[in-house]
This record gives sequence, structure tokens and C-alpha cells, in this order.
Amino acid sequence: MNDTEFNQGLMGFLELSPTPFHAVQQMTGRMEYMGYRQLFESEQWKLEKGQAYYVTRNDSSIIAFKMGKKALTETGIKMIGAHTDSPCLKVKPQPEIVKKGYFQLGVEVYGGVLLNPWFDRDLSLAGRVNYLDTDGKINQLLVNFENPVAVIPSLAIHLDREANKDRTINSQKDIPPILLKLPNDDKPDFKQMLLQLMQKQCDVCDAEEVLDYELSFYDVQPPAYIGLHQDFIASARLDNLLSCYTGLMSLLESSEDITSLLVCNDHEEVGSASSSGAQGPFLKSVLERIAGTGEILTRVIDKSMMISTDNAHAVHPNFVDKHDDNHGPIINQGPVIKTNANQRYASNSETSAIFKYLCKKVDVPVQSFVVRSDMACGSTIGPITASEIGVKTLDVGVPTFAMHSIRELAGYWDAFYLYRVLKEFYAG
Ligand SMILES: [Zn+2]
Repeated sequence: MNDTEFNQGLMGFLELSPTPFHAVQQMTGRMEYMGYRQLFESEQWKLEKGQAYYVTRNDSSIIAFKMGKKALTETGIKMIGAHTDSPCLKVKPQPEIVKKGYFQLGVEVYGGVLLNPWFDRDLSLAGRVNYLDTDGKINQLLVNFENPVAVIPSLAIHLDREANKDRTINSQKDIPPILLKLPNDDKPDFKQMLLQLMQKQCDVCDAEEVLDYELSFYDVQPPAYIGLHQDFIASARLDNLLSCYTGLMSLLESSEDITSLLVCNDHEEVGSASSSGAQGPFLKSVLERIAGTGEILTRVIDKSMMISTDNAHAVHPNFVDKHDDNHGPIINQGPVIKTNANQRYASNSETSAIFKYLCKKVDVPVQSFVVRSDMACGSTIGPITASEIGVKTLDVGVPTFAMHSIRELAGYWDAFYLYRVLKEFYAG
């Protein structure tokens, strides 16, 4: 696959994955097409060498793996990790608000949202709906309004003369999106609206009553190449669907001999502590079913390695002092190894050396990031997985601007570079 094909695929994936549920659905679609078989946690597994499988949890986390022909105690498992969730605004359980005849929805802030860029965007809604069907059974459906159905208008500068100097955002009061101008003050029922959408979306809809939902707003503007020479890719959710896609594309081309695995967890943006998050038992449980338990598992894990992929902060030309002078990753200059002496990143010299050697082999440039010594360091699923599983881990990611904005910016080349290195990792 060349850079153009890779980036086109990435942009399609980003556009079709407004929520972690949709991202997992997109990934499973591609895996099915490539002959991966679906496994269910509730069933007995009979894994065969040379076959590939996937299993999901909560429909928002996924583990895919290909069983290598060689013994696991000899090769270990080559693992890549990423996360499916991105910071966003989630609809509250009883969200209806009517003020001055405007129908709005109350929202919760999910993760570390950069709120400013959410104003004046064309927003749509997507997620999972759990409903009662016509047979009286509980069922679920992924929904996507697709059209721009909401907006959070800014307050005009004339009504807030200091806006450019000191405007702050109150996340309870200032951000409920507007969906409708009502003819009267009757409060519409949001669940009823959902039901109508579901009936419109499916040819045969068996939904009788919406019981609950997990829905979030997203920007309908599709991903785009940006820049005079199209040096950049702008999109929502580059953190971290870019890594999910890159991991997936690499896995699809992995070696026949060595067992390879990709884990994409939900809930990284809120600390990973959930049944489907990196701090939950999902990966451990799948590893036990692949390799066995006790001594044998310890032996396999000791031979294994995890590359945890999550975007890094590129040094911004308008804010160069936010980075250490010697550790400011530049866009389009390759993936970034993230290290932190206090283990906020799991990389060590051993895993970092392996990655650098892989980059060298495929002729891809590589950069390094450590946070300024006087600033707090972020974290990701790498250290969490390393602590849960005990596998040697590397934290790496492509350099980006505007992380956690509704529209982030990555380089044209970096995801493709990362893909080439990860492919080499999986190749043995
Ligand atoms: Zn991330």
C-alpha cells in the first residue's frame, strides 16, 4: 500500500467512525473482509494455528489477533495497543432543555475536551441506542444522525468585549447545543426523536421504545488535506483513531509465523478504569485464552512486546517554549518515542532501541519526546497495560497539533511512516 492509498483509507475510517462503537464496527468490517473470524467471550474457543480472530467487549473495545505457526513460548506475542475513544460532548440521560423557545440538549464533557473549538461548528449526533423491540426483548442499534442537527453558537464579541482576553467556558451553562427553534414552549421528548430516527435509518425497525443510549456530538466536516502543498491532515479524533487504523492496517499484513495482536481499548481519555478499558481484564483474559495461564503465560509474556501507539504533541511554532528545546517533535519527521522517568510512559531503553532499529530497517525517521522538566506529563494506555500484564512496552505516536480539539492536525507522512514501522514489527 502506498502513502496515497493509506491516507485515503485513514480519512475514510475517521469519517465513518464518529464514536468508539462506530470505530469498532468499521474495524470488524475490515477484518471480516480479510477472513478474521469473530469470537465471543461467552463461548468456548478452539484456536487454530494460522487463523485470525477478533473479539469485542462493550462494542467499543476490540482485540484482534493472528495465531502464528511457531510456538508461543518461542516467539512471544507481538502486540500493538491504541484507544478508540476521543474527548467529546455526551448527551445526558434526561437532556431536554427549553429556553426562550430553543430546544437544547444537556451535555456531559467526556475526557479532556478543548472546548473553544466546539463553538460555531456544524454538529451531528451518533452512538448506541438500547431499545425494547416489538417482541418485548432488549436490543441495540448504532445510530448516526449524519446531518448537522445542532450548533453551539458563540456569544458575539459586542456582548463580551473582553472575549479575546479572558473568556472562559462554563461547561454546564455555556455549551448545551441548540437543536430546534420551537413554535411553542412544549418540551419535545428526546427519546421519541431517537425512535423516529431509528425507524428512518433501518428498513425494518423493530424498535418500540428507547430505553437508554450513549450518544455524543461530533463535527460533520469531513477530514481533509490542508496546506499549500497538502502537508497536513485535519480531522476530528486523530487522537487516537489514527493509531487504531495504523495498527489495523499493519496487523492485516502481519507474519504467518509469529502470533500478532492488536488491542484497541475504550475509555483511555477518562483513565482506562472500566470493563473494556486498558485497566480492565479484557486483554489479560484474551491472553490467557491464547497462551494459557500460570507459568506458561509468564513465559509467553516475557518473550512478548507491546507497542502502545497514541499521538504526541508536535512543537507548535507559535508556542515553542511549551517544549524542551531538544525534544520538540516536528510534523512529517516521523513517529515519536515518548519517555518519562516517572513512568507516565512505559518506554525503556530496551523497547526504544528495538523501535529505533525497526525504523532504521525501513528507513523511517524517528523522534523523541520528553516533557519539559517544569511541566506535568500526560499518559496513555502504555504504562497501564505494562502494569496490568507485565509486558515490556514502548510508548510511541505521531506528532500532532491541537490534540483534543474538535479538529486536530497531523502530518501527511507520519501515520504512513508509523504503519511501515509497525508492519516491520509484526513481520518478525
Ligand atoms: Zn490519546
